[in-house]
Amino acid sequence: MSLEGQRTQMVKEQLQARGIVNPRVLAAFRRVPRHVFVPPQLVSEAYTDHPLPIGGGQTISQPYMVALMTERLRLQGHERVLEIGTGSGYQAAILAELALEVYSVERLPELLADVSDRLSGLGYLNVHLAAANGSLGWPERAPYDAILVTAAVPRVPQPLIEQLAEGGRMVLPVGPAQGQVLMEVHKRGGTVTEQPLIGCVFVPLIGEYGWPAGGEAPAP
Ligand code: SAH
Repeated sequence: MSLEGQRTQMVKEQLQARGIVNPRVLAAFRRVPRHVFVPPQLVSEAYTDHPLPIGGGQTISQPYMVALMTERLRLQGHERVLEIGTGSGYQAAILAELALEVYSVERLPELLADVSDRLSGLGYLNVHLAAANGSLGWPERAPYDAILVTAAVPRVPQPLIEQLAEGGRMVLPVGPAQGQVLMEVHKRGGTVTEQPLIGCVFVPLIGEYGWPAGGEAPAP
């Protein structure tokens, strides 16, 4: 089957079948060529139902997880979105389809050179990349209408709450390194509420509000 055929099938069998309904989100997943974001030797697996290694010990998340996190942000097109953990750039491309401006922070600069070429090659001019410690957010460009963290944190990082706009939404995996709960955080009238969504496993966020590099994870 062609890669496009595989992508159509992924949307139907992995996303719609599991309850992803937002038409704009589904359209974004039909458009963004996921196979461009995986290493060349894994292109034949790009549309399968699991995460894949992207180098540097990091992974591109399972399509369903990317879709669920994206759908919960309820993007309408006018938002400024912050992503922590650029990785392959796939999630950033999906966000670029759905929001006005995307700011994405990655700790490993060696991942970012490829991402920048990939995104501009596909015509995504509204993604702004930074090599930095994303556990501190990207304060210079705050506030953000929506924030996505694609690496695990022991608890919701305070700087990210501060950089979230009033009425904003944040989705992130919270919990110990072995397994987390995907949380949806809302900020309304100065009050922050947290709602658990599902269990998940992400690579750890390294830094002050995450885990120490290469070390044992501390108790949250
Ligand atoms: N969203 C990515 C997948 C991310 S995997 C995609 O669509 O492909 C998690 C990423 O978070 C990894 O690339 C890892 O290097 C990055 N990361 C870990 N700690 C970080 C930190 N403190 N700041 C920014 N990025 C971080």
